[in-house]
Amino acid sequence: MDFSFSREQEMLKKAVRGFAESNVAPRVPELEQKGAFPFDLVKGMGQMGLLGLTNSRPYGGTGMGYMARTIAIEEVSRIYPSLGFFFQAGNLFMFAVEGFGSEDQKRKYLPDLCKGTKISSFGVTEQMGGSDPSAMMTTSKLDGESYVVNGRKSFITNVEVADTLGFVAKTGDSFSVFFVEKGTKGYEVTRREPRPGLRCMPVNELVFSNCKIPKGNLVGEEGRGMAIAITTISVIGRTGAAGVALGAAQGAFEGAAKFCNGRVMYGKPISNLQAIQFMLADMSTDIEASRWLCYRPAWLLDQGKNPREIGPDIARSKLFAVDMALRTCLKAQEVMGAYGQSPEYRVEIFLRDAIELLTAGGTQEIMRLTVGRALAS
Ligand SMILES: Cc1cc2nc3c(=O)[nH]c(=O)nc-3n(C[C@H](O)[C@H](O)[C@H](O)COP(=O)(O)OP(=O)(O)OC[C@H]3O[C@@H](n4cnc5c(N)ncnc54)[C@H](O)[C@@H]3O)c2cc1C
Repeated sequence: MDFSFSREQEMLKKAVRGFAESNVAPRVPELEQKGAFPFDLVKGMGQMGLLGLTNSRPYGGTGMGYMARTIAIEEVSRIYPSLGFFFQAGNLFMFAVEGFGSEDQKRKYLPDLCKGTKISSFGVTEQMGGSDPSAMMTTSKLDGESYVVNGRKSFITNVEVADTLGFVAKTGDSFSVFFVEKGTKGYEVTRREPRPGLRCMPVNELVFSNCKIPKGNLVGEEGRGMAIAITTISVIGRTGAAGVALGAAQGAFEGAAKFCNGRVMYGKPISNLQAIQFMLADMSTDIEASRWLCYRPAWLLDQGKNPREIGPDIARSKLFAVDMALRTCLKAQEVMGAYGQSPEYRVEIFLRDAIELLTAGGTQEIMRLTVGRALAS
């Protein structure tokens, strides 16, 4: 298996690093303070072709693939995980439409989403249906040429700024994927959930009350919604969360290493203390192990592997990356002493963002279940 980056991927990495360091880094304090969605940065990522890396060219994507997407997520998250999380949440509906939608839906919605001039989100979770989405209560009933939707969803990323929401609802005994446009009567974003991290990506609750959507807003076949949602969450949500965790850990590590090389005690930088060196060594080893686990499923997807077959590989990468990011961010704070908790050094932002990843895209226990079930004969 060859894990080296192609020339194109190396160029992408350099370009995204440049964008993140020059355009994103100076904005972090303001975005953290205001918790405002960064429309301009998202458009900037769209202009660079980053939002449609896994969408194909006829629909406005670049078709560079999942390795390229992981590179972009890692590089953006190394500077600001909150913005890196846009790839996790923003690409979900794009994947579902390209993979399962009609030709008309692909041509109508994907080009603007790839450009970042329009934003989508994807809603599965409900109060009673998080880890067990089959317990969801939202229903969608066919009535002439429309579906009538009733229910509510929680913890849906970016829906307050989204032009289009893809969502899963019960259609009789099975589930189906639909989408609804912003402003549709009976569809309302009701509140922003207060969260500790990922501050520039709002997470909202929403309500459908007798919301009529056209029949043509069904994505894929009626009754196939759960399979579509699970594949979408695995291929986009979990790989995305893993990539954000990887980038967050790398960012925290670099911040801590720089600090330890500059902080002088006993006449020398503290990076000369063996205890500190051991912690930095453990951090860099953990990150490198995680990097291999994250890029492997992306590479497998680029080789055309069936996403269902590599579900356990993806789950393993998310499980390890998020635990690793938490360990790394905590160690980064530890080696920096009291400075580690200061917002001025940004390491504390990486930790708050990594905490959110424990749950986003599926909890760590659900990752273990996915890996464990594949091991049971
Ligand atoms: C930042 C963020 C962004 C999110 N964005 C979105 C989004 O855009 N769209 C969306 O649809 N959802 C989104 N979510 C919701 C997320 O997918 C759910 O929170 C997640 O699936 C877990 O559901 P829950 O919170 O209801 O926890 P629960 O399912 O209630 O879990 C509670 C606890 O029980 C454990 N548990 C549950 N089932 C099992 C089991 N079978 N075996 C062992 N342990 C189990 C869990 O691991 C957890 O520890 C987001 C969440 C966060 C934090």
